Amino acid sequence: MPPCFYKRIISTLIVLLFGLSSYSFAQVKLATSIPPFKAILQHVVGERGDVYAILPPGASPHTFEAKPKNFLQVEAATALFYGSEHLDKWVLTFKNDNRISLLQLLPAKDRLELRGFYGKNKGRPLGVDPHFWTSPRAVKSILPGLMKELIAIDPAGKEVYEKNAKAFAVTLDSLSATVAEMMAKVNRAPVMMSHPSFQYFLKEFGFHLAGVIEVLPGTEPTAREVKELIETAKKESVRVIFSDPQHSSRPAELIRESTGIKLCQLDPLGGTEGRMSYEEIILYNAQKIVEALQ
Ligand SMILES: [Zn+2]
Repeated sequence: MPPCFYKRIISTLIVLLFGLSSYSFAQVKLATSIPPFKAILQHVVGERGDVYAILPPGASPHTFEAKPKNFLQVEAATALFYGSEHLDKWVLTFKNDNRISLLQLLPAKDRLELRGFYGKNKGRPLGVDPHFWTSPRAVKSILPGLMKELIAIDPAGKEVYEKNAKAFAVTLDSLSATVAEMMAKVNRAPVMMSHPSFQYFLKEFGFHLAGVIEVLPGTEPTAREVKELIETAKKESVRVIFSDPQHSSRPAELIRESTGIKLCQLDPLGGTEGRMSYEEIILYNAQKIVEALQ
């Protein structure tokens, strides 16, 4: 037998091994980039299938580099869901016939622009902010589009997807109401973020975002720009700066040192114990925000 035949058998076996360890025998196998997308998809897919998240907990989707096993996992999946080129660009290196951007499913009127807050980028639009999942309202508004995509991939699952999406919409409404109640008790003073991960959350719950320190991932402000941010923070009476464990909080520390403004670490990505389901991720962060602003 030709050597390429053996190669094919071996690669099929590898796909099977990796595939089976990541998925059970569910009918639809979906791969996605980050844990909150997994949590959202799992609500709609329900018993119809399994969802696998590629990004390990603690990693940043902006700087992650895919491993060989990830390619095999994605090849074994029916579809691959991701955010956008501003979030998880590495997904575009995977081969999959059904590669679907969740940000594209967000109606244009609900998309938020990323804007520069200092230096030459001040006020300049820098593209659509991909972190929509931090707002339950924004997640609700992707559901009709998501349902359509899932039905196109798996027409036999139509009824299940429709039933699950309807139930998830109710869950999201009640989550929005719970968080709104929590936020009604805090001082909704202006806030800053070290990375723009919670812009959608802040918009839904009526906060004023006075600045984002790291507007583009991996970029840090210069000393002069930090000075500009400090002036803004003082002028706008910023109460707290939100950072996250996946990105550097060094410039935020500098601002805290010179202004005394509190730092509070949020976690937009979850994927760890107690932060696995969509509701857990949102409520964990809402509680942190309450503690920081009380
Ligand atoms: Zn991010």
